[in-house]
Amino acid sequence: MSSADPVLSLIRPEILALTPYSSARKESSGGRVWLDANENPQTPSAGKPWLNRYPDPQPPDLVARLADYYAVSAANVLVTRGSDEGIDLLLRAFCRAGQDSILITPPTYGMYSVSAAIQHAGAVTVPLVAARNFAVDPAAVLAAATPAVKLVFLCSPNNPTGALLDRGDVLRLTQSLRGRAVVVVDEAYLEFAGTGSLTEDLGANPNLVVLRTLSKAFGLAGVRCGVTIASPALVGVLQKIIAPYPVPTPVLQAALAALSPEGLAAARASVQGLVAERKRLATALATLPAVRRVWPSDSNFLLFETIDSARVMSATRAAGVVLRDRSRDHGLAHCVRMTMGTPEENNAALEAIARV
Ligand code: PMP
Repeated sequence: MSSADPVLSLIRPEILALTPYSSARKESSGGRVWLDANENPQTPSAGKPWLNRYPDPQPPDLVARLADYYAVSAANVLVTRGSDEGIDLLLRAFCRAGQDSILITPPTYGMYSVSAAIQHAGAVTVPLVAARNFAVDPAAVLAAATPAVKLVFLCSPNNPTGALLDRGDVLRLTQSLRGRAVVVVDEAYLEFAGTGSLTEDLGANPNLVVLRTLSKAFGLAGVRCGVTIASPALVGVLQKIIAPYPVPTPVLQAALAALSPEGLAAARASVQGLVAERKRLATALATLPAVRRVWPSDSNFLLFETIDSARVMSATRAAGVVLRDRSRDHGLAHCVRMTMGTPEENNAALEAIARV
């Protein structure tokens, strides 16, 4: 693949030229006695002999199940330590320290700008339009996308506002930025929206990247399993810079179980229950005197504007309920975000907010 490729030409030249670390697991195949990787022949402490070996860098059985679930091909899939690692890898692949930038649309997920700061990349901001339920402003994004902007992060459904971005807006932006920047659509919460993924448009848009995760719909935040879905050429570049063994064996076991037919059915049922709770809570919160407005949500959380977020936070904390104060986010004065818990947990939050 030459660097004339519309996406590869945007990658940092030193990353394109990099010779990646070649781990023992990449080089070895078909052996009977494995004495190549300085492993212990046993796991003396755990009684689980399979933990003594370094795992496959990208376990093919997991990659195949993820590809099935996301309806893409295995060559489009990179498994990472949470989607947070996917964000970090993209920054490191595309942004030259002190020169390049990302574009973000606040209020949005905080790790895009943190990863940019770690890489010493800039962050250009183009706020979402609050008056249009936090829609993206494609004309403003295009106007702000200078040649230094290599990555445009869009979160759909957006955290912390909750709603999907308009698919047409995202696709038109991606097409307009082709050859200029990569559009990264973070779909961490997509299962709760019940709509199709932007991965359907991957083939026609080489500068589109989709981030997914097992942390939300599958309830596996503790497992740290995220997925970066991109063109095979870009997946190949990210494979050069990811840590040698990013999928620990216990993570592999848990992820495979979650993606089994039983695991998938259980996740679907869990999503249905949380969506029902979201509808119930949106109605109930809107009746409370301390709540001014509940924003529509396609995710597993609700953002609501209160009469006084400090009072809401202290009333809930006094009841042992922890919500997230988003009032310092762009345009979110007095807004609080509440994740959908069990019905009992949600009722505890409602009762506490009702006392304000
Ligand atoms: N993207 C968004 C929008 C998120 O809200 C989060 C976590 N809260 C992540 C990515 C990171 O998820 P993880 O690393 O657990 O996959």
